[in-house]
Amino acid sequence: MLLEIENLLRLQEADKAIRRLQDEIAELPKRVAAIEHKLADTKAQLEKAQGAVKADESARRKYDTTITDLRSKISKYRDQSLDVKTNEQYKALLHEIQFAEKEIAATEDKILELMVNADARDKEVKAAQAELKAEAAEIEKEKIEARQRTAEDEKQLAEWRAKRDQMRAGVNEDLLRHYERVSKFRGSGISEVLDHKCMACQVMLRPQTYNDVRTGQQTVVCDSCQRILYFNPANEMLALEPEHKRSRRHHPKIDAPQAWYYRQEFGDAGEVFVCFNNASGQATRRVFDMHTGRLIGDILSREGDFRHSFPEDITGAIRLNGSWTENEMETWGTEMPMTALDALHVDLEAAQYEMRTRTSGKSEKPATIPTEQAAS
Ligand SMILES: [Zn+2]
Repeated sequence: MLLEIENLLRLQEADKAIRRLQDEIAELPKRVAAIEHKLADTKAQLEKAQGAVKADESARRKYDTTITDLRSKISKYRDQSLDVKTNEQYKALLHEIQFAEKEIAATEDKILELMVNADARDKEVKAAQAELKAEAAEIEKEKIEARQRTAEDEKQLAEWRAKRDQMRAGVNEDLLRHYERVSKFRGSGISEVLDHKCMACQVMLRPQTYNDVRTGQQTVVCDSCQRILYFNPANEMLALEPEHKRSRRHHPKIDAPQAWYYRQEFGDAGEVFVCFNNASGQATRRVFDMHTGRLIGDILSREGDFRHSFPEDITGAIRLNGSWTENEMETWGTEMPMTALDALHVDLEAAQYEMRTRTSGKSEKPATIPTEQAAS
């Protein structure tokens, strides 16, 4: 890999770290502001509750005055009643007194109501005060944390910036300018090539471009996304190795006249490949040792379709891809050729991989290859 590419990769790492830190630093005051907003709400609630208490208190004072006034009126009427001349006048005064007494009773009811309410008001104020206190403590804690985190972030930021400057010095100016322009628009300026593709934009490379990236003699940019491309042989190996397992396996046709199966056990023979052929109302069966390819026992023929004639051989077996003509198989004699044996092994491996991935949530990771078919 070119030294410049290595520098660019480190530069990209530094750029990413810087962006993350900057985002975090910008985010912290927002969190504090959100709590401050809540604090202001609680304060307003407390003020409202306190205001209600004050209003009640002033109402109470007003009612007290009203009662005092009414009482003095009553005593005035009583004094007057001593001096009245007529019955009519006396009745009128008595009426005034009764009216004032009723008003006193009504006002006293209102005072009682206020006293009952006062308990609830008091609770509201106390709750708001407690909440305010808790929030104030929380905001202090958050502020301290935010300050510490920001200081730590700033420190890291300074370190990354120093690193970035160092990396920039190790890249030629034109390349650096290109990297920064692409980074600015796309968030990254350099991309790995794996399996002929730019990993950032997933577009296939032209063969010439791919070769240029592979040889690493010059810097190459992606035609599609303009990112600077690089190639890491170690990653390429990892990506290509399970290729045949990752690609979708071809599935044998259900009604094919020839069918191959893998059986884990076949009498004393252990693992075998079984081949069935349907021809002119007859089904024939051949059994091969899966490791040596040797024919086991005789070729068996039965009336009808193999599915109906040899059900005991199919149950629990794995269906494989394989198609050789009857004539071809005649030439095999008692041993199938290595090419045929290898093809069946590869397909069995793919089938087993497929079964494993189907049951284990379609993992794309290369699974370990079972050892049985690796043995000769
Ligand atoms: Zn690209």
